[in-house]
Amino acid sequence: MADFPFADRLATLPPYLFAAIDKAKAAVKARGVDIISLGIGDPDMPTPDFIIEALHEAAKKPANHQYPSYIGMLSFREAVAEWYGKRFGVELAPQNEVLTLIGSKEGIAHFPIAFINPGDLALVCTPNYPVYNIAVNFAGGQVEFVPLTDANDFLPDLDAISEESWQRAKMIFVNYPNNPTAATATPEFYKKLIARARETNTIIVNDAAYTEMYFDEQDKPCSILEFEGAKDVAIEFHSLSKTFNMTGWRIGMAVGNPSLVQGLGKVKENVDSGAFQAVQEAGIAALSKGTPYVAEFRKIYRERRDSVCAALSKVGIEHRVPKASVFVWAKVPQGKTSTSFCTEVLEKTGVVVTPGNGFGAPGEGFFRISLTVPSDRLEEAVSRIAAL
Ligand SMILES: *Cc1c(COP(=O)(O)O)cnc(C)c1O
Repeated sequence: MADFPFADRLATLPPYLFAAIDKAKAAVKARGVDIISLGIGDPDMPTPDFIIEALHEAAKKPANHQYPSYIGMLSFREAVAEWYGKRFGVELAPQNEVLTLIGSKEGIAHFPIAFINPGDLALVCTPNYPVYNIAVNFAGGQVEFVPLTDANDFLPDLDAISEESWQRAKMIFVNYPNNPTAATATPEFYKKLIARARETNTIIVNDAAYTEMYFDEQDKPCSILEFEGAKDVAIEFHSLSKTFNMTGWRIGMAVGNPSLVQGLGKVKENVDSGAFQAVQEAGIAALSKGTPYVAEFRKIYRERRDSVCAALSKVGIEHRVPKASVFVWAKVPQGKTSTSFCTEVLEKTGVVVTPGNGFGAPGEGFFRISLTVPSDRLEEAVSRIAAL
């Protein structure tokens, strides 16, 4: 059989971060070791029953068996607008400021195709969710990475980006609450970012997947659209995945500047045919009735965060106590690298944690723990690491 070489855009892809980890994990598992995986941020708790019931009912309707509208059902887009109004005080026009996505990853990956010409520059804050830079590369664009450092609270130093880069950049990708650093953004940061983007005509792509995974009321994360002028320059990606334990369902949304939303819609119109309407109907149920459930999930994540942070402190592993997200970002012990530490942890203890450098060079020296397993297993994992 002929062996066809991949196109350059695939050949130059960095290796998928979790592929190498999965391989090492399988080898350790084969030795009969009890693996505790704190690697991937996929909620372990099930989707609430009322959402499953809504899907069941919606799946019976013949109208839902046909092609959906490519921009999404108006009723879903209205539910998104209503949720944004209640949660963030942000007004959205369901007609042209909201787009249904087949998960937010899909939208993020397609967005650069709509706005990046070959050679165009995009700024990507890193360490980061790898989809941002890969999507820019797929569209033929160039990436300039903007480092997120401990010294700057894992926020990009907007003044350290050169004037030339600001002028050249078509877009900047930001993500708070952040994956992988678990950092949260301040209103001052968003205001400054919006001002700079308006001055330089730069699109802000804000990935807001974790805004609901906060631990204290006073730390409630913002939508960038809460701030004046944001709608001039920003598109925000959000998702039901993390909020309602629906990663497998593939449902999310893009909201914000109408021309940005419309550009993404044009790509989607030519690539996919929309999200299954029954899933959108289940999404309406989640958005309109799910808030009390999310409060329960938050409590559980908070307990897990507390038990991990207490255990890490006890064994002297430096970390910040996160205010949001489902991650703890911790420093590897002195004298080790992210890779050497995570490899040693896996091989000697069966605990999978993610090396920080896998999310970009400035992640070197850190590792990421996902809070997506029960507290007793998290504590067990840290005590195994302590016994190294
Ligand atoms: C999980 C995640 C997403 C994507 O979630 P979808 O399931 O595709 O909606 C987007 N951004 C970040 C940072 C994530 O961690």
